[in-house]
Amino acid sequence: MDGGVGTGTPGTTEDRRPIGVIGGSGLYELLASPAPVDVTTPFGTPSEAPVLGELGGRQVAFLPRHGADHRFPPHRVPYRANLWALRALGVRQVVTVGAVGALVPDLARGAVVVPDQIIDLTSGREHTVFDGVGTVVHVPFADPYCPRGRAAALSALGGRALDVRDGGTLVVINGPRFSTRAESRRNVAAGGTVVGMTGMPEAALARELAMCCTNLALVTDADAGVDGGESVTHAAVLEEFARHLAVLRASLTDVVTALPHDGGCGCRHALDGFELPFALPGEGTPDVAARVDGGAPRAGR
Ligand SMILES: [Zn+2]
Repeated sequence: MDGGVGTGTPGTTEDRRPIGVIGGSGLYELLASPAPVDVTTPFGTPSEAPVLGELGGRQVAFLPRHGADHRFPPHRVPYRANLWALRALGVRQVVTVGAVGALVPDLARGAVVVPDQIIDLTSGREHTVFDGVGTVVHVPFADPYCPRGRAAALSALGGRALDVRDGGTLVVINGPRFSTRAESRRNVAAGGTVVGMTGMPEAALARELAMCCTNLALVTDADAGVDGGESVTHAAVLEEFARHLAVLRASLTDVVTALPHDGGCGCRHALDGFELPFALPGEGTPDVAARVDGGAPRAGR
């Protein structure tokens, strides 16, 4: 086993690094002493200025994926700027939260899946930071999520009265429309457990920036109807998400608290041995704007 959960000495440099949380704007109120931080990146500005604050005794950098006013639909979220901005703030482990539809009949609304696999069906998104700037870097992605983050999350969620699923495949569709019944059946046949619209390229970008990534997928619906039932609507997703928000907030606090305190994870070494075409953000002392602008790739936007 690669270390345990919550190992290391609290108070070390690693422990003081903020934990990145990407989720809906409904999670804003979670943080104590919130302070927004403007970060510019070579990929433009993130969905919103990340908010630094405290959660469960840990420093957290929270980023509302769709913007505070929900202006970015899933296919237009500035994923690269979001992940880059978090890393520039010192983040090395990210927890991503999203609403999903169940593709298997035994997953009820309100269940939380901690997926271990992904099928990426998105297209047209800016899915890599290694984009025409020097030598291409092919990061390993066979296991897309952080094994230690998943273990910590499952351990923390186990303390809650929740239907928690250890593992499963998150199918990521492009949206913003929902699936047809045929697409839903295909996703089931492909081995999908849940389906959502935002898990990619988020997880891949975290890996490309050598950050640990753990996903919490809250089941809000049964997609196009795995048993021929009613198909999902946006209103139903929002209603269901709101119903579980309090539990989700409490669970997220538990998860953040339980995440490892040390940097001994393989995800952090995803770029070892590669000659990088640019300097990674978030190295050295915090001077965010200057550092992000220096040595960074020239992106086409
Ligand atoms: Zn990791």
